[in-house]
Amino acid sequence: MAARYRVFSVRVAAVTSLTPSFVRVTLTGDALAEFSAVGLDQRIKIVLPIPGHGFTDLPDGEDWYGAWRALPDAVRNPLRTYTVRSFRPDARELDIDFVAHGDTGPASRWVSECRVGDELRIVGPAVPSSPAELPTGAAEFDPGAANRILLAGDETAAPAICAILEALDVATVGHVFIEVPTDADRLPVSAPAGVEVRWIARNGATHGVRMTDQVHAWASTVAAGSACGDTVELADVDVDEQVLWDIPAAAESRPVYAWIAGEAGCVKELRRHLVRGVGLDRKQVAFMGYWRHGKAEN
Ligand SMILES: Cc1cc2nc3c(=O)[nH]c(=O)nc-3n(C[C@H](O)[C@H](O)[C@H](O)COP(=O)(O)OP(=O)(O)OC[C@H]3O[C@@H](n4cnc5c(N)ncnc54)[C@H](O)[C@@H]3O)c2cc1C
Repeated sequence: MAARYRVFSVRVAAVTSLTPSFVRVTLTGDALAEFSAVGLDQRIKIVLPIPGHGFTDLPDGEDWYGAWRALPDAVRNPLRTYTVRSFRPDARELDIDFVAHGDTGPASRWVSECRVGDELRIVGPAVPSSPAELPTGAAEFDPGAANRILLAGDETAAPAICAILEALDVATVGHVFIEVPTDADRLPVSAPAGVEVRWIARNGATHGVRMTDQVHAWASTVAAGSACGDTVELADVDVDEQVLWDIPAAAESRPVYAWIAGEAGCVKELRRHLVRGVGLDRKQVAFMGYWRHGKAEN
């Protein structure tokens, strides 16, 4: 039996400006007593209110998604994907760290205007109602027995990377590259002593270039030793039409595990370089296009 996904009614409990680019929104509500937190890079959907209409037509129940898709555009609330930065079940509080990227999308617009007490809906897994229910598939980080890790991403992946870092075994070793818009966007995060965390400020450079350089340098030293050496067929992904989501099937024995997320064009280039260029086994790397330049999420 699959995990139950449902709509949770929540309201804004706090809005905290973390840096020039990150805003933390703390959500609360009695419904969160039923929310199932799996940690790591757990994703949820946020459901945005329609101005003047709120959530009036938002369906609930088992088939909420089918009913939502069938709604006319004018009353179908926008859905966007975000990461659970942290969840405090006793307080029924959930934090989401939003990248504020201006007035260009409904989520970014909402976060620039939201106030304590505003209503929101999220879609996520509910606590299992029986032992027969499968665990949720809402988190991807799965290093298996790897003894060395790489985490790399842009600012949209920073909340997931920080949540993963805080959950790592203290003996973990590896490298972390997080590209953020400016020097002032570095966030405090704790990590095991053997994991080097490097915040890379773009400071006006082209998105993804600085992170790509760091991953290439990592690949030429650390990753090259664990390349499988096979010639790999790599299906092309048109990142303007398809979601780039290439995840190893299951944890298995591997020396290095890499998790890479961010702007889809940048992630596609890194996938090509690591798999085709360096020869890294695809079973060692999760590639996730979190958003695409010039394209709304849906
Ligand atoms: C699994 C997963 C987890 C994610 N977690 C987070 C998270 O925790 N925090 C977070 O901030 N984002 C996160 N994202 C990314 C987020 O879903 C997208 O940035 C989303 O497009 C934002 O929605 P929007 O309504 O603001 O913009 P949209 O309506 O989707 O897009 C409107 C325009 O804005 C552009 N745009 C979208 N995002 C950005 C951006 N970050 N910078 C500049 N331009 C942008 C688009 O290219 C488009 O032109 C995650 C994505 C995935 C798939």
